Amino acid sequence: MFIRKIKHNLIKIREKIIPLKFDGWLRIYPTLQCNLNCAYCVHSHNLPESMAGKYSLVPWQKWAEFINKTGKNVIFTGGEPFLYPDLVKLVNAISPDLQVKIYTNFSTDLRDYIKNCKRPVIFFGTYHPISGPVDKFISTINDIRAAGKFAGSIHMVGWNKQYDFVNKAKQEFARHQWYVYIDDDQYLQDESSCMKFRKKVSCTRRIYLIAPDGRRFLCVSKMLRQRDSLGNVLETGLGADQATITCQDYGFCNPCDKLGETKITVFTSKGVTDHGSK
Ligand code: SF4
Ligand code: SF4
Repeated sequence: MFIRKIKHNLIKIREKIIPLKFDGWLRIYPTLQCNLNCAYCVHSHNLPESMAGKYSLVPWQKWAEFINKTGKNVIFTGGEPFLYPDLVKLVNAISPDLQVKIYTNFSTDLRDYIKNCKRPVIFFGTYHPISGPVDKFISTINDIRAAGKFAGSIHMVGWNKQYDFVNKAKQEFARHQWYVYIDDDQYLQDESSCMKFRKKVSCTRRIYLIAPDGRRFLCVSKMLRQRDSLGNVLETGLGADQATITCQDYGFCNPCDKLGETKITVFTSKGVTDHGSK
């Protein structure tokens, strides 16, 4: 617990010194579903209110047309984006002038990708122990590398209950010439995601988060709960990169709602405002 607290404080200090900057990329969640159920998954942060499984999906042709029209680079994330049945067709239809990243757990059947993907993709691949033995994961990424279709990086989560496992897995990755990044456990909560209260705030974020049905949300917490959508980008267009809403849910932010540029102003009971960013 003590180590967890120190780590949390170090992360907060780092976030203050090097705040995350808006990168201009679209973040599209094609299904929001996942085939795994990791103990540290931020998507299970507020399960009683989750509507993650209740989205309708958009056909790949419609996504491709929209992405090409925006002219913006795109990240497909999730959940597990390869659960979207036509991900490879969608990726192939994106203009070669744009960059495509996929955040994946590499634990679905990737034969379609290996055989049919015809454009460069940058992977942010994470090995989650729940997906099975590390050899199986390494075999998958070796196959992709052998096909000349791997670019990007491999990660594990520095969750405090799996430090020993991470260290052993790292050695196995190294034997196959893979370097593994160990990421912070996003689940380390601060006041914004403590789920002990709901405060009214003004929340300004500069980020594009787009749900499986095309609706844009200001944060992952709102997207998972299908609350306060900023409109459907497939109907209205992308809109300005920065958006502000009055939110009643500060305290129920998702632990991963720290991406991009975020500014939150808490309205206190005395009517004064307390400015802060996270
Ligand atoms: S693979 Fe990622 S999205 Fe899926 S359960 Fe694990 S942490 Fe969550
Ligand atoms: S305050 Fe939290 S829950 Fe509300 S919009 Fe901002 S990030 Fe989302």
